[in-house]
Amino acid sequence: MRYSKLLIPTLKEMPAEAEVISHTLMLRAGMIRKLAAGIYSLLPLGLSVTKKVEDIIREEMNRAGAQEVLLPAVQPAKLWKESGRWEEYGKELLRFKDRHERDFCFGPTHEEVITDLISKEVRSYRQLPLNLYQIQTKFRDEIRPRFGVMRGREFIMKDAYSFDCDEKGAEKSYKKMYDAYCRIFERCGLKFKAVEAETGVIGGSFSHEFMVLADSGEEGIIFCNSCNYAVNIDRAEIRIEEKRDEGKNKEEMKEIKKVSTPGMKTVEEVSKYLKVRPQDLVKTLIFETENGIIAALVRGDHQINETKLKNFLDCTILVLAGDETVREVTGAPSGFAGPIDLNISIFADHGVKGMHNFITGANETDAHNINVNIGRDFEINGYGDIRNVKEDDKCPRCGKDINIRRGVEVGHIFKLGTKYSQMFRATYLDSTGEERFIIMGCYGIGVGRTIAAAIEQNHDENGIIWPMSIAPFQVLILPLNTNDTTVMETSENIYNSLIDNNMDVVIDDRDERPGVKFKDADLIGIPLQIIIGLRNLKEGNIEIKIRRNGEEIGRAHV
Ligand code: ATP
Ligand code: MG
Repeated sequence: MRYSKLLIPTLKEMPAEAEVISHTLMLRAGMIRKLAAGIYSLLPLGLSVTKKVEDIIREEMNRAGAQEVLLPAVQPAKLWKESGRWEEYGKELLRFKDRHERDFCFGPTHEEVITDLISKEVRSYRQLPLNLYQIQTKFRDEIRPRFGVMRGREFIMKDAYSFDCDEKGAEKSYKKMYDAYCRIFERCGLKFKAVEAETGVIGGSFSHEFMVLADSGEEGIIFCNSCNYAVNIDRAEIRIEEKRDEGKNKEEMKEIKKVSTPGMKTVEEVSKYLKVRPQDLVKTLIFETENGIIAALVRGDHQINETKLKNFLDCTILVLAGDETVREVTGAPSGFAGPIDLNISIFADHGVKGMHNFITGANETDAHNINVNIGRDFEINGYGDIRNVKEDDKCPRCGKDINIRRGVEVGHIFKLGTKYSQMFRATYLDSTGEERFIIMGCYGIGVGRTIAAAIEQNHDENGIIWPMSIAPFQVLILPLNTNDTTVMETSENIYNSLIDNNMDVVIDDRDERPGVKFKDADLIGIPLQIIIGLRNLKEGNIEIKIRRNGEEIGRAHV
């Protein structure tokens, strides 16, 4: 390809709309442009990387025995009503009507379509197992599209669905996908962790998220260096050894006292002001749920995990109460809430259990209570594991140290069981002629998100540094003196011979200053640069440079 003919609209300035580095660099390198919130056009460089990632996915899916299909993006509401998700999915599902006023949606995922298809096409155990996949555009009307293609509304996903006769087969299919995913992300040059997203009671875990490690990741993950425990922070169990202050447990309950804490709302402010440790405080957080308002208590140095709290309360709606509700329930503004004399249910984290003579808000402006005690001053309606894991927590499996990192969820594999096959009566006849439900699994990879995650892990202050496997081009030829015939002839010769050797190569044939070319070269991140300049060429030399470390790997003689 010739740079001069390609649409690569690089930007010098930092785009104001971008919050993470991958988004900034994809815009600056001219890979994508925004059409509307969460909706992007892929320009030639963006599309080229997309195709590379898709090819890797295709190769590994095919190798794992999956077959490619292409299902419609527009789906009739009828299927979604059958599965119950027409109601359940909420506003993320983009719905519309055709000219006959019939309801449709733009597919955010394809369990309904594929299970309906299989229910009609598969009759016998002889047709199983099956794994069908597609690489296709999805639409999810995300509440907060952000970070460019990382969380778009329209995005490309590889989704696969497996169909098996029995549990054993389904587990085998799952394992095959797990292995294929590892190979895919390894081949994309990513540092990732497969974390348990849900632990099955029997036979281990059946949902894994593939997380690319990056500080900008939206997900918290924890993993143990000593054993293979690796989970999403929302699922991470706390090792319950609340031995804290054992001596203090024997301590007498002291007289409760109200103290003035003018303007001190946060744990940090209050503990500093009262000259105590944050862990001597108990935080009272008020939440609204579909079953009413509740209070949740955690130790001052702990953070509530809303997903864990939601699971513990078995509710679907959980929102931190606004100032008005907090005032109604506690009689005080946020920051001074406490558990005493509340007319709502109070739940507490296990970490609060052994605490004595602690500090809470006094449900009064500018006041806290000290020497508060459970049982004497208020009752707890239930204890649960509702806080985030901290750096100093130990692995719940083996008790050793853990790591807490951030990650971008690029893939998700899931054992579905018979959830959808029952809804759509996807059955088969076994070898004895008995009708059974097909056992399913589903497996997703976000293509755009994988690309963004790759940039999060591979960049420097000058731009993107593509892993060779997914680079839009493998080699960039940089002739520095475009009016010099020897420079141009040599460049063209090298360009042609690389093409003859099936390399992906682009030549920067633009009539631009070397400085401009170098800047763009580093920004778009092609892994190998071949620099051809008049001075070197006079001595028969060209320069070959690795983008990643700027290292010159050799001066080839021509
Ligand atoms: P998230 O929790 O990030 O919203 P999800 O659990 O909804 O993800 P899945 O339904 O498991 O995602 O979809 C499979 C894959 O599709 C994800 O692992 C991710 O890589 C990708 N994906 C999901 N939503 C988006 C989005 N809005 N933009 C880009 N990629 C997405
Ligand atoms: Mg989602």
